[in-house]
Amino acid sequence: MQNKTKIVAATTSMGKLREMREILADYEVVSAADAGFLDDVEENGSTFIENALEKARVVCAATGMAALGDDSGLCVDALNGEPGIYSARYSGNGTAANRQLLLKNLEGQTNRAAHFTCAMALVWPDGREYTAEGKTYGTIATEEQGGNNGFGYDCLFISDDLGKAFSMVSKDEKNAVSHRGRALHNLLLKIKN
Ligand code: IMP
Repeated sequence: MQNKTKIVAATTSMGKLREMREILADYEVVSAADAGFLDDVEENGSTFIENALEKARVVCAATGMAALGDDSGLCVDALNGEPGIYSARYSGNGTAANRQLLLKNLEGQTNRAAHFTCAMALVWPDGREYTAEGKTYGTIATEEQGGNNGFGYDCLFISDDLGKAFSMVSKDEKNAVSHRGRALHNLLLKIKN
């Protein structure tokens, strides 16, 4: 059997790694830690794509291997796309506080439309760079929904595709419609073309 080309995923999340492996099945996707890269890459860009590219470029330069970077966040229409690239640091006080701030900023707001965006960037040591985005649409609930699944804003995001909060569905159900899954599929299409 021919050896698969290795790609280093610039992420520490096992969930993301698993999803990347499933979709990029023609490649051997290894974690940054397994490739000897243990640093955090700062997110200094002004777009999801810039941040994803930065992560991939840094990890590619450090390891000498093809690297996959990603960046994602929640964009709320009534808040002009906020928290967007600042989703993880929205309140400056952690995930639960981020959700409370979002609910507060949407108090009395009838337009609760939102989407998650994910950008993926694949950078090769020879300088080739591919980028792709994926989105998934929904609405922001007026209070946190139950369910023990998910992370971040999952318990506030009612998916248009699933008719339920991301916190109330299985990982597989979410992955089938998620911004990350869609970004990876779009990236794969670009690589194959
Ligand atoms: P990152 O791409 O891992 O840096 O994610 C940025 C932030 O966006 C996370 O910390 C979450 O707050 C939010 N986020 C991104 N994707 C999701 C998701 O699928 N569910 C819930 N929150 C998400």
